Amino acid sequence: MSSGSGQKIVCVLYDDPVAGFPPDYARQGIPALSQYPDGQTLPSPSSVDFTPGHLLGSVSGGLGLAPFLKSRGHEFIVTSDKDGPDSVFERELVDADVVISQPFWPAYLTAERIEKAPNLKMAITAGIGSDHVDLQAAINRGITVAEVTWCNSISVAEHAVMQMLALVRDYIPQYGWVMRGGWNIADAASRSYDIEGMDVGVVAAGRIGLAVLKRMKPFDVNLHYTDRHRLPADVEAELGATFHPTVESLVSVCDVVSIHCPLHPETEDMFNDELIGKMKRGSYIVNTARGKICNQDAIVRALESGQLAGYAGDVWFPQPAPNDHPWRSMPNHAMTPHTSGTSLSAQARYAAGVREILECWFDGRPIREEYLIVQGGALAGTGAHSYSEGDATGGSEEAARFTAS
Ligand code: NDP
Repeated sequence: MSSGSGQKIVCVLYDDPVAGFPPDYARQGIPALSQYPDGQTLPSPSSVDFTPGHLLGSVSGGLGLAPFLKSRGHEFIVTSDKDGPDSVFERELVDADVVISQPFWPAYLTAERIEKAPNLKMAITAGIGSDHVDLQAAINRGITVAEVTWCNSISVAEHAVMQMLALVRDYIPQYGWVMRGGWNIADAASRSYDIEGMDVGVVAAGRIGLAVLKRMKPFDVNLHYTDRHRLPADVEAELGATFHPTVESLVSVCDVVSIHCPLHPETEDMFNDELIGKMKRGSYIVNTARGKICNQDAIVRALESGQLAGYAGDVWFPQPAPNDHPWRSMPNHAMTPHTSGTSLSAQARYAAGVREILECWFDGRPIREEYLIVQGGALAGTGAHSYSEGDATGGSEEAARFTAS
């Protein structure tokens, strides 16, 4: 832990809206939650300098941290320019003490970059999922990695349910007919099904996966899950969910599979040709976990052959996805950019969580166990439960090929 003033905090955030900052907000505010579903308390910084419901995740939003960091005498650099050796991020990293980044627009902290940052002591993920950091390099260097556990888990669960329904009912092409001035019912209905009665499974029943199971239960589907740890018997019984000890067993019976495990060496490339080949013909995959859990080319091949009837999600590799990324143009997809965890509602929670982590750090107080991924040269807290050691950042330099339109 570190205290005192004069630290350099480098924060990588996505660009402001093309229509300007701040945007016109659709609503007056967001509901106030009292706790997370398992009873964990919401972030509890001493105060915040932003309005919940406002855009905080873009450069001008600055996660609402500028007044706080300035009042404590720290240097605060915010940039969206994160990829390539000439990027602002790579330039500012050389004497940074703390890096903050969101998975939606990740500042990839590869071993080479960590090497160039001798002062770096902490990497904070403003969100959940710290696979953009080479965790093995962070372990080796004694860098603390922390994320804001729970902050956007329900946001992602809602997005996953939306995309399952969008795929099975074939929503996006139907919207397309409306936009083109058509009324082509036969075209619109020819790939549209009810999800009722289908077998729906999740890969990992952690915070998000369990929330997805709970949300899908009222649709009268048959629920399935696989995970490294089994759910408590009463939870399993209440959901009527079937546990599968392996992902192969799960995919062989499911019509719809939603992926919710972290990306780490054990899960990278999990959905390759071989596993997809074990799925029922005409299955759907929704992946809001991480792009690299699915083999990029295997997904394209399976959509083209009809082995998969549809693919959706919001996670790509690398991010931003290069303009010619094959998932932008493959058939029968319903992809979004990486947005599920950065709703305005989620932003208020993770901005407050980042402030809480920074307050603990500067004041020499322990960071909550549930926020820790790496500490003291080992996986810690949530990281020790959900991740495995190693690196999943390979190939991230490809993100430099993206050009904003
Ligand atoms: P949790 O830590 O609550 O859950 C992760 C679960 O994955 C744990 O139950 C863990 O098992 C399980 N798991 C780990 N490895 C495997 C494996 N090899 N096979 C099966 N299960 C495995 O995290 P969340 O549910 O909150 O988040 C999950 C992931 O979702 C994040 O790591 C992130 O990548 C992604 N995410 C995406 C967002 C978005 O905006 N699209 C936003 C937030 C998260 P156990 O602990 O039982 O060993």
